[in-house]
Amino acid sequence: MAFVITDNCTKDELCAQACPVDCIHPRSDNDAFAGTSQMYVNPAECIDCGACLPVCPSNAIFPLDEVPADKQQFIAINEQYFA
Ligand code: SF4
Ligand code: SF4
Repeated sequence: MAFVITDNCTKDELCAQACPVDCIHPRSDNDAFAGTSQMYVNPAECIDCGACLPVCPSNAIFPLDEVPADKQQFIAINEQYFA
């Protein structure tokens, strides 16, 4: 399982700073940062620790099995970012 970031994300990087395995990208020090509308969780690296969830001020992050019905497409969108 992995956590999923949705389009409520404002790219403030708070989740990325809290993530113990650095699986949330792109970071602002990466050239790709300016070209993305949100940040993404790498599902192959996420350890499902939940540390990102409470620090998000935008309610943009969900555990895989709690992604709202109207946000289901972001499961694939997060995965495809790292493909
Ligand atoms: S903490 Fe929330 S709003 Fe901030 S970058 Fe992460 S998902 Fe986006
Ligand atoms: S659940 Fe943990 S490992 Fe997964 S993205 Fe959030 S902070 Fe990182």
